[in-house]
Amino acid sequence: MDSIKKGNLIYQGKAKDVFATNDPDRVIMYFKDDATAFNGKKHAIIEGKGELNLRLCKRIFEFLEDKIPMAYEKTISKREMLQKKVQIIPLEVVVRNKIAGSLAKRFGKEEGSDLPFPMVEYFYKDDALNDPEIIKNQIAAFNIASKREMRQINDMALKINTLLKYYLYVRGIILVDFKVEFGRYYDDILLADDITPDGARLWDIKTEAILDKDCFRRNLGDLIEGYNIIADRLGA
Ligand code: C5P
Repeated sequence: MDSIKKGNLIYQGKAKDVFATNDPDRVIMYFKDDATAFNGKKHAIIEGKGELNLRLCKRIFEFLEDKIPMAYEKTISKREMLQKKVQIIPLEVVVRNKIAGSLAKRFGKEEGSDLPFPMVEYFYKDDALNDPEIIKNQIAAFNIASKREMRQINDMALKINTLLKYYLYVRGIILVDFKVEFGRYYDDILLADDITPDGARLWDIKTEAILDKDCFRRNLGDLIEGYNIIADRLGA
């Protein structure tokens, strides 16, 4: 379809809104300036975050585009991205390379040590339940995704990790962990949603300075500074 027209708001997220379009197979994702943490308990508007996140996400998605099946198609303005309309599988798929965040907290570990292998964890997307961790048997038993779909999701998440870890490493950034979401599109499973420093831990390789949304979560300073450093290194 040549000219995409924005339709009704179909989903309101914490940092993004999703709009229908005149094409039933396409949606527009609008990147907002909202920053939230602790399941929405902490909130701020950080001017320019939406635009920066879209630039970073575009850069990362264009790197992954020919390697991973994905919903991303293109950006259409400074805050808007066109994606295939998928049926989101309600799982937050987290891949970790180092111990940090909730993994450190849940198991009483120090942040910062390397894991012996990349670790994939699944969380059930439900704000009212605080996104509880969920295991593969529960995912299958509750019909959230089939075992076959979960094999695909697990493989894709690990492949994204391998690709991104190297891509960022040579640009002076450690990929500590990140969250991705997947969706069904006809017979395919596609990488959906976004990848930005809102949902990934990114540390400077030399100083281990935090460049991601933990700056906001932990009141460590100006989030935009870290995001700008990432944008510079990625040429975004
Ligand atoms: O908090 P936790 O350590 O489990 O987060 C792991 C990764 O997933 C972090 O990069 C975090 O930014 C991301 N995440 C997310 N959305 C959530 C929970 C975690 O993007 N609701």
